[in-house]
Amino acid sequence: MFDRHFAVWPDGAPHHLTLPETSLYENLAISALRYPNENAIIYYDRPITYRALKDEVDALAGQLEHLGVEKGDRVLLFMQNAPQFIIGYYAILRANAIVVPINPMNRTAELEHYLEDTQASVCLCGQEVFPQIESLIGHERLRHVIVAAYGEYAAADTDLDLPAEVRAPAQPVSGEGVIGWRAALDDGYRPGELLVGADDLAVFPYSSGTTGAPKGCMHTHRSVMATCVHGAAWRPGGGREGVTLATLPYFHVTGMQGAMNSPIFQGSCIVLMTRWDRRTAAKLIERYRVTSWTNIVTMAIDLLSDPDVESFDLSSLQNIGGGGAAMPEAVSDKLFNLTGLRYIEGYGLSETIAATHINPADHPKKQCLGIPVFDTDSRIINEETGEQLGVGEVGEIVSHGPQVFQGYWNRPEETKKAFIDLDGKRFFRTGDMGYYDEEGYFFIVDRVKRMINASGFKVWPAEVESLMYRHPAIQESCVISAPHDRRGETVKACVVLTAAEKGKVSEADIIDWCKEQMAAYKVPQIVEFRDELPRSPTGKVMWRALQEAEWAAHQKQ
Ligand code: AMP
Repeated sequence: MFDRHFAVWPDGAPHHLTLPETSLYENLAISALRYPNENAIIYYDRPITYRALKDEVDALAGQLEHLGVEKGDRVLLFMQNAPQFIIGYYAILRANAIVVPINPMNRTAELEHYLEDTQASVCLCGQEVFPQIESLIGHERLRHVIVAAYGEYAAADTDLDLPAEVRAPAQPVSGEGVIGWRAALDDGYRPGELLVGADDLAVFPYSSGTTGAPKGCMHTHRSVMATCVHGAAWRPGGGREGVTLATLPYFHVTGMQGAMNSPIFQGSCIVLMTRWDRRTAAKLIERYRVTSWTNIVTMAIDLLSDPDVESFDLSSLQNIGGGGAAMPEAVSDKLFNLTGLRYIEGYGLSETIAATHINPADHPKKQCLGIPVFDTDSRIINEETGEQLGVGEVGEIVSHGPQVFQGYWNRPEETKKAFIDLDGKRFFRTGDMGYYDEEGYFFIVDRVKRMINASGFKVWPAEVESLMYRHPAIQESCVISAPHDRRGETVKACVVLTAAEKGKVSEADIIDWCKEQMAAYKVPQIVEFRDELPRSPTGKVMWRALQEAEWAAHQKQ
C-alpha cells in the first residue's frame, strides 16, 4: 500500500505504529507518575510540575462532576492559551466528557451557535472573554460558567512583558451559576471512576468543513492519541528532555496537538505564552533552551523582522515547523540562515486533528505538505468522478488514517458527503486540491471548498455572510478572499445595500458593525458596494466568479 508513494520514507522507520489503548487523561496520569517533580508547564517564569498539574486537573474534574457533567456531555473551553486551558482540557476528559474548544475571539452571536449545537451546560472561560458569554447563562442549557484569571499562574516577579489579560488581577465573580476558578478547585471535590477509553469521544474542534456553519469534528481519544504519537515519533526536538514553546492557539488543532497533547504524552515541558510577542518568544527560547517551536508564517516573519533577533541565543532549537498555511520559501530560507534548521511543514485539518502529512526532517521540500505519516494512506482523486489520479495529476486530496475523525456532530448528511470509499477503505475528502510528485511528496494548489486562509486563521464566507445579513441595511453579501501582503489572504465583502439605505451607509460603518458581531479575524477588511451580485441561471450568487476576478485584478497590478 505505502510503497506506491513512499520512495522517501525515513530509512528503517516502521510504517505502522501501535497506539496506546488508553484515554488521553491517562497520558497525563502516566507522566505525573513518571516525572512528578519535573516541570509540565512554565508560564511567564512560573513552573508547574506534573504532580501539581494532575492534582489541579483532578480537583476541577471533581467540581465538573459535582455540577452534573456526565459521560459524553460536551463542555465548552473558551479561553486563550493559559495553564487553565490545559487544566480545563484534561479535567473535562477526566470527568468522562467531551472538550469543545472555542476560539476566544468569538462574540456572543457566534457563541449562541456553539451552545445550541453542543447543548453544553458548563463553560470554562477566560476572565477577559466572560462578558461575551455572560448574557447566555440560563439560555439554551448553559447553567454554569467557571471563570479563570490567567495571571494567578504567572510568576509575580517576572521580568517578561505580560499581556494585559495576564496582568489583570482576578475580578470577584458573582451571579447565578458563575464560579471563580480558585473556588472551583478549592471546593475539594474528587472525580469518580474514569469511564472512557480509546474509542470514546474526546474532543470536538469546530470547523465548517467544505461549507456552511461551524460543525463539531468528532474525535475519539484514539484519533487524538494518533497525532500525539505520530508527532512525537516524527519531529526532532521531542522526547522527555524536549522543551516546547507554545505560541499557536490551543483551541486550534495544530497548537492543541503540537504544543499541548504531544508534550504531555512525552512528559516534557511546555513553555507557554498567552499572546504572541516576538521579544518574549526570543527570550523564552534562550532562557529555557527551547528545542521545538511550532508556529505559523506570520509569527516566523515577525520574529525574523526583529532588528535584534541575532542578539538572542536560539541555538537550542532542534525543530521549527508548522502547518495550517503555506510557508513562503523566502521566509523559510531566512529561518535557515538564522537557526541552521529547515522549516518542517506539515498538513492537516480539524477533521484530522493535525497532521496527515509532514516533511521528513532530513529531506524536507519547500512549499510542500510532506509525505503521509504512519498508517496514513493519502491519494488524489478527480473531485467529480472519484477516479484515482497518478503522479503529478491535480485533484482532491483524500486521506485514510487513525487520525481521521468520526464525522460531524449531529450532521449525518454532511458526514456522508465528507467521505469516499476507495478499495474498501473510507477516505476523508479534504476539499483541498493538490498532487504528489514521483517521490510521494504532496503539494497543495487550490481549494474546492469556500474558505479563506488568513495566515492560518480559517474564515468561512458562508458564516460571515449569515452574520452580515443581520445588518438591517444589507440586502446581500458575498464574502471572498482578497490578497494580503502579510496574511496571504484577507476577507472582502461585496455588499448590496437595500434601496432605502443606498448611499447612507459607509464601508467603515459596516466594518465597525461587523467588529461587534464576529471574531476580529473574520471581519471584512474591505467592503465593496455593488448594485447587484452576479448570478447563475438558477439564481445562485456566483462567488467563484467574484473570487477569480479579485485575484486576477491583483495579478495584473
Ligand atoms: P483547519 O481545519 O483550520 O486546520 O484548516 C485546514 C485547512 O488549512 C486545510 O484544508 C488547508 O486548506 C489549510 N492548510 C493546512 N495545512 C496547510 C499547509 N501546510 N499549506 C497550505 N494550506 C494548509
